Amino acid sequence: MDKILEQLPRKANEKHGENKRFFTKLKKRPPKNIDYIMQELHEAEFERTDCLECANCCKTTGPLFTTADIERISKFFRQKPQVFIENYLRIDEDNDYVLQEMPCSFLGADNYCSIYDVRPKACREFPHTDRKKFQQISNLTLKNVAICPAAFNIVEAMKERIKLK
Ligand code: SF4
Ligand code: SF4
Repeated sequence: MDKILEQLPRKANEKHGENKRFFTKLKKRPPKNIDYIMQELHEAEFERTDCLECANCCKTTGPLFTTADIERISKFFRQKPQVFIENYLRIDEDNDYVLQEMPCSFLGADNYCSIYDVRPKACREFPHTDRKKFQQISNLTLKNVAICPAAFNIVEAMKERIKLK
């Protein structure tokens, strides 16, 4: 996995133009069954990929924390939300709460998440490859393929599966 992660930014960069053209066409004319296709590609990829061998999302790009995330996680720690915010979060340039530090403070050396059951919604949904109307998050996906080997493979499989003129 280390080698895959080391090569991923370069491979994603090489595919960037091709991926961008693909998503531009996909947005204009998405197949009717795109949600079904994405579900299939997502499930097939995550049967092969073990996130515990990777954790690159937790190491390199943190989630944003919604108010509901902050309330749920601070309750788990039996802290007041404000104390949790002061301990772990900062406000970024988009005015969102994000982690003060990367890798994520809740990531263990064994790649397990110490707050897994109450983790942020963004962590649960990353890399968003099974979400409905996937074509609507193409800009985010273009970035995620450089971080997440599973997202990279899913986009490659999409291009094979969905032939656009
Ligand atoms: S979601 Fe992607 S980046 Fe995160 S651990 Fe799994 S394979 Fe790695
Ligand atoms: S909260 Fe858990 S799943 Fe989310 S980035 Fe941190 S370690 Fe990863």
